[in-house]
Amino acid sequence: MNLERCTQTCLCQIRHQPKWVVLTGGPGAGKTAVLELARRTFCQHVVILPEAASVVLRCEMLHSSEPSAKRAAQRVIYQLQWECEELLRAEPSGLIVCDRGLLDGIAYWPKGEQDFLKSLKVKKEVLLNRYDAIIHLRTPSLEQGYNHVNPVRLETAQQAAQIDQSILEIWQDHPQRYVVESQDQFQKKAAEVLGILASLVPDCCQPQ
Ligand SMILES: [Zn+2]
Ligand SMILES: [Zn+2]
Repeated sequence: MNLERCTQTCLCQIRHQPKWVVLTGGPGAGKTAVLELARRTFCQHVVILPEAASVVLRCEMLHSSEPSAKRAAQRVIYQLQWECEELLRAEPSGLIVCDRGLLDGIAYWPKGEQDFLKSLKVKKEVLLNRYDAIIHLRTPSLEQGYNHVNPVRLETAQQAAQIDQSILEIWQDHPQRYVVESQDQFQKKAAEVLGILASLVPDCCQPQ
């Protein structure tokens, strides 16, 4: 996993207590494109933790529809993200943006939330409390342009909608959650997300 820093130069020297935000949503919601815009918009004190799943699922043995392989993959994804988040705790940046959160695995887990939490020996509240805010990008419908551009995206539009719905439910108890609906113009959706992110960036590091 390569940590990515946003690229605007900023002279702030403060050792921040970072806020943690999860950017999540169903397949095809546009997270990657939004993160690319964020990278260009914010300063080097805004850090992006990339999606653990895209690293783990390059492993063929874990990329299978067998329930045992699905569970194994989600456990590895969870563990990788957990460890990387822990390493990031020493980071003095202003905002840490996680591409997906530790609860997202429930949407891909064969037997649902309770079984996921039991298997990982963790309480849901503990995972909800790790993040200051959640931003959920809704998956567009077929009419709005859901597609398979991403080569690791194997879901049909219907499966994608189900995963989107499941992730929506997983995070619904988080006290600061933003749900960003799909729009005919992706730019509007992206602008909405960038606005939310900007509201979480400390004043000393606001984009000029
Ligand atoms: Zn700052
Ligand atoms: Zn800064």
